[in-house]
Amino acid sequence: MTPSINKSVISTRLIVCLILAILSPFSIADQQWKTLGYDKGKTVIGNRSVSAPARNTLYSCDFSAMSSSLDRPWVDNKGVIFFSKKPLVKGHKEWNANIRFEDGLPNIAVTGDGLPNHATGDFPIKPGSTAYQYDRNPNSIRAQRLSYALPTNPEIANKPGCLPMGTIGIALSGSVFFNALDADKRDAVANEILDACEGHPQQHGQYHYHHNSPCFNQGIEGEHSPLLGYALDGFGIYGARGEDGKIITNNELDECHGHTGSALDRLGDRITEYHYHINNEFPYTLGCFKGVVDASMLERRPAAEGDRRIGTEAGEGSGRDNRRGGPVDLSIVAKKLGVRERDLQHALGPPPPNFKSAAKKLGISEHDLQEAMQAARAR
Ligand SMILES: [Zn+2]
Ligand SMILES: [Zn+2]
Repeated sequence: MTPSINKSVISTRLIVCLILAILSPFSIADQQWKTLGYDKGKTVIGNRSVSAPARNTLYSCDFSAMSSSLDRPWVDNKGVIFFSKKPLVKGHKEWNANIRFEDGLPNIAVTGDGLPNHATGDFPIKPGSTAYQYDRNPNSIRAQRLSYALPTNPEIANKPGCLPMGTIGIALSGSVFFNALDADKRDAVANEILDACEGHPQQHGQYHYHHNSPCFNQGIEGEHSPLLGYALDGFGIYGARGEDGKIITNNELDECHGHTGSALDRLGDRITEYHYHINNEFPYTLGCFKGVVDASMLERRPAAEGDRRIGTEAGEGSGRDNRRGGPVDLSIVAKKLGVRERDLQHALGPPPPNFKSAAKKLGISEHDLQEAMQAARAR
């Protein structure tokens, strides 16, 4: 590369950075989201079964059903997410993404540091920010050591496979995809506060997406979306548009959120193969693994660790006292106080819980509530 090209690349990057700095992350996300149906989500969330492969849900390796959804001002009473009302984690931090795909047989070797090729918000989420009112993600983004061997010629499995917590696919951006659930069995897209690229870090610092990102190459309007990454079974993950160039709906996809059709592969060759689509309907990315997954690639972590926060236990659940200590089992608190768990959850509201108003709503004393919460805190 000649010095002059280098210089122009740097100045282009500078201009892009300046433009990004001037425009609020909201407007960028908004414009791109709208063309993909992300002005609002079409999801109905909460309490659905995740115990078997089926359309409009996911097949979890860890959970049998979702938790009821939290009261979030950007989710209406029908469960529709209004993305433009959802706070973002602000910031503009640049990373040196480092991902390599080495094509071979029988595998594509994927190595990288897990960092994205786009700017991210500033994590941990800053106290005092709007985002912090709903999510106290205390984790920082950190480099990882990714190493995956994806099958070059993926095979459809006899039976669909369940989705673990943690990584289920690799994004071309350099980071990874997680499934649609957070550690509290809730719709992560509806409940977690993400940055302008719709990502955030988990407890080991792995930056990840639970759905599509306005920072991915979304291709040309009216055409099938380009490849965004690979699931761990080797099948491609594409954006929101199907073969007719229109946003693909869950009704057009199978139980794993995919279909067989024609699309361009990573090298630009047209192939007709099974692949997944990321659209704006739950479970957003994969519903299950359609293909055979090498078990050694699945993260063998305790179930709830996929998105678990360290330290203050961020606001993935209203049922948590985020001020100190570990998670609280609300069913125990409810039983002790003689109230319904659901009422307790509603009274506590989004984190941080306001014990005074919660106690008033429940018709009990604040002292009793605090004491019951403290007693039920996991050690
Ligand atoms: Zn397709
Ligand atoms: Zn997450």
